[in-house]
Amino acid sequence: MALLQIRGVSKSFRTLRALESVDVDVQAGTFHGLIGPNGSGKSTLLKAIAGAHFADGGTIVFDGHDITRATPYERARLGLSLKFQITAVLPELSVYDNVLLAIQSGESLMRLLLSSSRRALDGEVTALLERFRLIDRADDLAAELSHGQQQWLEIAMALALRPKLLLLDEPTGGMSPEERRVTGTLLAPIKAHCTLIIVEHDLHFIRDICDHLTVLDQGRVLDHGDVETIQRSPKVQQVFTTR
Ligand code: ADP
Ligand code: MG
Repeated sequence: MALLQIRGVSKSFRTLRALESVDVDVQAGTFHGLIGPNGSGKSTLLKAIAGAHFADGGTIVFDGHDITRATPYERARLGLSLKFQITAVLPELSVYDNVLLAIQSGESLMRLLLSSSRRALDGEVTALLERFRLIDRADDLAAELSHGQQQWLEIAMALALRPKLLLLDEPTGGMSPEERRVTGTLLAPIKAHCTLIIVEHDLHFIRDICDHLTVLDQGRVLDHGDVETIQRSPKVQQVFTTR
């Protein structure tokens, strides 16, 4: 059974149908890319999965639980973590404290109390900062990081709760080609413990890291399959060359 099963999900904003009867299966342990033109419903679908808004119709089953009407908090407890398209680090806190705060939110407050000191989490925070090449910036304010580093900080924060499924909305937006390359390198190892759905504009980037792609167009699934299949798909080529 797929880790995430989306069936017939629809979402409208007043008269605009942002998603129409979308079906997607995401297998555990895979990197799943979500691509499509601007306004095709990619962010809306991620938000429906994370519970930032409810689908109007259809069902979403995650890890055996029907989460269609679950709150974002309930979904997070089940192991879902979302990084939004807009950067959301706390700029006036240090890089270290941003990650510490992310670890402490949710259930880990209990862990913190049991461990009786914030120091117990030091190892965890440090490990995340090392993995995301931010350890030298731990004491700097998040506001002082480059745009690319802020994106990495956010990914580290999203991973702090050890999710089963991580949702990333255009994490390489605004990055330099070099930062983009590094992002691919930073994401690859998380496959060992986390499934990923990633929205991206950069087809080269997504082709290199994803196992499976779903293509949205005007709120509908235009095509899906492994990267090779999607690259050869005439309908996909048409959408990407004519718009
Ligand atoms: P994508 O991420 O693929 O660029 P979105 O999911 O953000 O597309 O948007 C899909 C469509 O839904 C667009 O036409 C967008 O303008 C519209 N939309 C998204 N969010 C809202 C909202 N909160 N209120 C009204 N319309 C929205
Ligand atoms: Mg978007």
